[in-house]
Amino acid sequence: MKIAIFGAGQLAMMMIQSDKEKKHEFLVIDPSNNPPASNYAQHIQSEYNDKNTLAKVSKHCDIATIDFENVCVESMREIEKYIPVRPCPNALEICQDRLKEKNLFKKLDIKTTNFSEVNSLDDLTKHIQQNKSYILKSRRFGYDGKNQYRIKPNTEIMTDLISQECILEEVVNFDAEVSLICVKSVDESVMYFPLIENTHKNGILSVSRFPSKYTHLQSDAEIIGAKLLESMKYIGVLVIEFFVKADQLLANEMAPRVHNSGHWTIEGSSLSQFLAHVNAITGESFESNINFKNSVMFNILSKFPSHDKINKICKEFNIHVHDYHKTERENRKLGHITHVCDDKNKMDHNIEKILEIL
Ligand code: AMP
Repeated sequence: MKIAIFGAGQLAMMMIQSDKEKKHEFLVIDPSNNPPASNYAQHIQSEYNDKNTLAKVSKHCDIATIDFENVCVESMREIEKYIPVRPCPNALEICQDRLKEKNLFKKLDIKTTNFSEVNSLDDLTKHIQQNKSYILKSRRFGYDGKNQYRIKPNTEIMTDLISQECILEEVVNFDAEVSLICVKSVDESVMYFPLIENTHKNGILSVSRFPSKYTHLQSDAEIIGAKLLESMKYIGVLVIEFFVKADQLLANEMAPRVHNSGHWTIEGSSLSQFLAHVNAITGESFESNINFKNSVMFNILSKFPSHDKINKICKEFNIHVHDYHKTERENRKLGHITHVCDDKNKMDHNIEKILEIL
């Protein structure tokens, strides 16, 4: 099949690399110059809503998907008149908007953070109670901690974020953060990866590990995943991020695509999230008996570690280094390192040592 991917970043790149048997042909669309996936597939350098590009995709591809959720939904609806778009534009529309996402959680009885819709400074002051901490988040275009503003108790609010449509969330004093990778195929089969435990720094994912300490919450998470897949008529990989508090899951947000917290599955699982997505959208069934190895993934942000550091870690530990070959920039995701280890206790110990070197 010929698959169009809107967005040609590292996620698209790893999707294409996962197709080791070269069953499919890929076309990537991205306005930037030389994005990571453009080295592995034909690249159309254009805006996502460019009419000529949309016509080319509709005519020459069999199916369209995304590596970036903020594509123009109307453009996706246009393409959908000719070829399947997976996940469907309705799911993208919900996942692009924090308010729609939270309202869906509420409608489906999925526990989430306390939130309110705020569209003005008046709204904001009305919803803020003294002695409570909040996060103001823009409804759209917020990722990696962008477009968020923390409001501490009894402090003056100084942000121009309020010029956008926002939601105000109470800060959750969580015990941990976990994510669930859900996959639904065209043939309606569904699989879930085991819960992954994530650590963020400044709102950006830093470390993801499997197994998490919360394996007992797996079935609760899967029930939530099933509701969301069903309600959005979802096909492909959907990732749900949760806060864990007092042994309960609170849904924070969803990503309608493969996700940074699942990068460890390239080496740590017999089926990676990337191949799972490609198989799901092209109608292949999942292999049975997928097995997982203890794994931890470290994101490389801002600056790539020196050769000396990488060599030192490679000598001491079983690691896999992924370089996305992107220009260094503050807080930009440049690559990741995965460590796979048979012994879970040893892995815990190694995490500290690897972090020290990095
Ligand atoms: P988000 O873009 O909503 O995923 O937020 C990025 C990160 O900020 C999350 O992974 C959390 O670490 C933190 N965060 C977001 N919302 C909240 C909240 N309501 N309470 C506490 N921490 C939060």
